[in-house]
Amino acid sequence: MNFQYWQPEIEKMPRAELKALQLEKLKKEVAIALRTTFYKERLSKKGIKSEDDIKSLDDIKKIPFTAKNDLRDGFPYGFLSIPKEDVVRLHSSSGTTGVPTTIYFSRDDIKRWANYMARCIYGTGCTKNDVFQNMITYGLFTGGLGLHQGGEEVGMMVIPAGAGNTARQFKMMQDYGTTVVHATPSFLLHLETKMKEAGVERDSLFIKRAFAGAEPYSEDTRRRIEALLKIDVYNSYGLSEMNGPGVAFECQCKEGMHIWEDGYFPEIVNPQTLEPVKEGETGELILTILCREATPILRYRTRDLTSFYTEACPCGRTHRRLRRITGRSDDMLIINGVNVFPSQIEEVIMGMKEVGNNYLIVVEKDGALDRMTVKTEVSSEIFFDDARLLNALKEKIMETLKVSISISPKVELHESGSMPVSEGKAVRVKDTRPKDF
Ligand code: AMP
Ligand code: ZN
Repeated sequence: MNFQYWQPEIEKMPRAELKALQLEKLKKEVAIALRTTFYKERLSKKGIKSEDDIKSLDDIKKIPFTAKNDLRDGFPYGFLSIPKEDVVRLHSSSGTTGVPTTIYFSRDDIKRWANYMARCIYGTGCTKNDVFQNMITYGLFTGGLGLHQGGEEVGMMVIPAGAGNTARQFKMMQDYGTTVVHATPSFLLHLETKMKEAGVERDSLFIKRAFAGAEPYSEDTRRRIEALLKIDVYNSYGLSEMNGPGVAFECQCKEGMHIWEDGYFPEIVNPQTLEPVKEGETGELILTILCREATPILRYRTRDLTSFYTEACPCGRTHRRLRRITGRSDDMLIINGVNVFPSQIEEVIMGMKEVGNNYLIVVEKDGALDRMTVKTEVSSEIFFDDARLLNALKEKIMETLKVSISISPKVELHESGSMPVSEGKAVRVKDTRPKDF
């Protein structure tokens, strides 16, 4: 195979040199963190008063973990380390309650992020001759602009298509000769179904590759998409707290995602004890960003479960590879690529006096896509025969949920006391989607 590297000197850097570079960058990031109100307090409690208190990579263990709740508590500016006038953009993602987690970027942060993305994209074999249709949500979600900038950096012609609307996607693919796409794996499967329905001939399209991420999927699903669409599918991993996509990506060997260790310092720990697992064992991924000046985040608990490959990759890159994310160590649901915490739904429905005490969130597959239904009892004060009132309540719940979690689940109302109550710990989520890892 003919491998190509965006930054060969860094991508193939000997590990000893890479570690030295990480230490230098970690010290710099700690210095940056000490400028934020959050870390100034957090780190000084642990005796870290300057970057000189970090003398080796092992010293990272002196730094406490940062959780999603910390970001929420620090909202809006507790994690900001540069003057607000030097911020050029923000992105945000859902928090466990209504407060989002917000990340600020300086101009250089954006450039660095685009560079990591370019490494990922170029590493799959793309060049400036490619036409890249980015079929993922733009806006506050990082998937759209992240891959977009990386594509431009590589010099591809980028079509900011956004998610959804399969008919329009096919039209653009034909009109502009799209060769590469980016989408969630479920949308790629959905696209194939719609292709058949719309009578679009595979031969009328030029797509060769897809980047698929934002939600977990198995190796079988990858193979299925590849066979159905006759393309190569590359796994793309990232999270908004670490800029977004561009953290780890598959190379042409398609076996594990190289994590750019000069930009993101990875650790894998047992989610219960928070002690490091043995190299190669599964645990929760902890990430420290080494490439951002506006919003430092140290030892972030991603809640994503994965492990490292222990062998070197045939492509020659020295940055370690992560296995597919097999699950989470918290209860976050990913619905067609959108993160939803059950607590956000509970907050909405329990805040309405017309709603009763019992509810259940059901997640299932509807064809290739995910479907969520919120089933809830109405309050005993409500007369269950009043269809007009019930419809109005349903609308109200749907609209409020849409504002809070950015998706519109189906809502089913049940008479007070009619839903089964579980003995012991209440079961609030029933996720019947197949898990074939
Ligand atoms: P967000 O912060 O909205 O970008 O969501 C990030 C989360 O999406 C991660 O923490 C993962 O749980 C999930 N995610 C992103 N990419 C992948 C992927 N390739 N495989 C599995 N899960 C992913
Ligand atoms: Zn490789």
